[in-house]
Amino acid sequence: MDAPVSDENPICSAKGCRVDAVWVLAWNNPKIHTPDRRKTWLACDEHREHLSQFLGVRGFLKDVVTLEEWETGPPPTATS
Ligand SMILES: [Zn+2]
Repeated sequence: MDAPVSDENPICSAKGCRVDAVWVLAWNNPKIHTPDRRKTWLACDEHREHLSQFLGVRGFLKDVVTLEEWETGPPPTATS
């Protein structure tokens, strides 16, 4: 396939990285965000560790989920 890359294609947030994102890092800076606010960074497999550490040491990191999970939302809580 040589279709042009769409703007909608989520790309890793790491500086200089153009790889498709696979992970979503949800974070919150309590100094500037309300507690329920979530900022997100996208990460490829290679940069997930680096970016989550960056946020983790600052105490900002809340959640790391796959892009797929993020887009489909939280798993249903119903116990059918
Ligand atoms: Zn990357």
